[in-house]
Amino acid sequence: MDKQPWAQAGRQPRIAIIGAGMSGIAAVVKLRQAGYSDLTVYEKAERVGGTWRENRYPGLSCDVPSYLYQFSFDRNPDWNHRFSYGAEIQDYLQRTADRHGVTPRVKFRTSVTELRYQAPVWQLTTEHGEQTEYDVVVAATGVLHHPFVPDFPGLADFAGTAFHTARWPDKLDLRGKKVGIIGTGSTSAQIVGAIADQVQSLHLFQRTPQWMHPLPQKSYGPVWKWLLRKVPVLNRLAYWGTAFAIENSFVRATLGNRLWLAYIAWACRRNLEKNVPDPRKRAQLTPDYQAACKRLVFCSSFYPAISRDNARIVTSGIERIEPAGLRDKDGTLHELDVLILATGFKVSNFILPTRVVGENDEELGQRWDGAPRAHRATTLPGFPNFWMLEGPTGPVGNFSLIMVSECQIDYLVAGLNRMKRDGLAAIAPRAEAFEAYNRKMSEAVRRTIWFTGGCQSWYLDKDGVPNVYPWTPSQYRRDMRHPDFGEFRLMTDASG
Ligand code: NAP
Repeated sequence: MDKQPWAQAGRQPRIAIIGAGMSGIAAVVKLRQAGYSDLTVYEKAERVGGTWRENRYPGLSCDVPSYLYQFSFDRNPDWNHRFSYGAEIQDYLQRTADRHGVTPRVKFRTSVTELRYQAPVWQLTTEHGEQTEYDVVVAATGVLHHPFVPDFPGLADFAGTAFHTARWPDKLDLRGKKVGIIGTGSTSAQIVGAIADQVQSLHLFQRTPQWMHPLPQKSYGPVWKWLLRKVPVLNRLAYWGTAFAIENSFVRATLGNRLWLAYIAWACRRNLEKNVPDPRKRAQLTPDYQAACKRLVFCSSFYPAISRDNARIVTSGIERIEPAGLRDKDGTLHELDVLILATGFKVSNFILPTRVVGENDEELGQRWDGAPRAHRATTLPGFPNFWMLEGPTGPVGNFSLIMVSECQIDYLVAGLNRMKRDGLAAIAPRAEAFEAYNRKMSEAVRRTIWFTGGCQSWYLDKDGVPNVYPWTPSQYRRDMRHPDFGEFRLMTDASG
């Protein structure tokens, strides 16, 4: 293998992209557009699509509007709804990957087990024992990816069917079944809304109620789609217009705008009062923390569904799972045929458990130790030529992660261009720049509703600090568009 740094040898960098989900697909397309063509994508599954491939539960949809939740380089005029359903997004991702030549570059059914930096290259090892050297590694491994299944006593002894929402069994027929669902996040709300009228009984095991904003769903007809095809600028306007509208309403609220927070609180309370007529259920579903503290759930189907006579909300806590069902802390056994675990994801993992070993044999898992951080959500001191998409502390929240990934890829491209221009061997953020950035962020994040709103959520790390970007997405885009290379160690010598 060629050990001379690619930018000094005047050759293409060999780039490994891990994950063929939304951000992996975007990385291939945008890197190729920027002139970087030696790209290999590693994907553990047999198809592209990431979260939209893995999640197939009934009611699955995206609560970010379709015209924003799409690639800027392949805007789709044919979205059927304002908020797309999961299968349509998966088709779009598959089509985009095929159309832009991504699919042939993907090594399917190939998990990456280890990445080891051997200056100035990374040695990548797969589950099949294959080892390859790359000049640059891009972790496009997603955020909400590793299912979190709490250690409920007795779960393994359940006689019915139990599964996490991201592992929905093929051909599962819930008609006439006694179904239980644990959790009340966005996933649970969509499932409850979709299945309550099919099942014999539905038990929602709720630890914390959620504020829910109605989802203003709408379908798009053939005339509108025809118009978007004929006048593509309309799609572009819808993209930027939606980004502007969300940023200046829901995003502002999370960052502390009192007016928007008051609106959200009012809209959620009204939604609850209008759609849950039973005062007991209404009381059970009323949170005791501020709206938008947890990621706001947008759903119009949950309240009518949970108000049905066949639906019950159990708030007394889970004692244990038994073969026949779930016993709550009051001693009541709720008999179940099916138990759905809508219990969320291990959000501190990112690329872990892949073993990532940087300079001085430092392991990423040890560095993070349950509180992952990154420089501008993309890079890390001590891990040269290693880039993350949707890494820790990015702008998540109720916004388009596609837009966020794309601006992170532009940032990566700027880094590669700089390497090429200056004949660099490696590039990594300086420890001081990383610390200054993270310090500023952890001060600002304490002013957000995620910190002040009085709730527990997956935004908080093990120390209770939100692991989320605390300014606006447009601020993030601006900063990423013009990288400050003073924040980086620009290494001409492979040894640093
Ligand atoms: P989640 O928001 O993390 O919710 C997990 C739920 O499980 C919570 O209600 C939690 O209760 C409960 N739970 C966890 N451990 C428990 C335990 N030991 N006992 C009882 N309850 C327990 O997960 P999610 O609903 O899968 O959503 C995760 C994220 O995925 C969302 O926030 C969103 O970003 C994304 N998502 C997006 C969409 C979309 O439309 N774009 C749809 C689905 C999901 P507590 O609240 O008490 O912790």
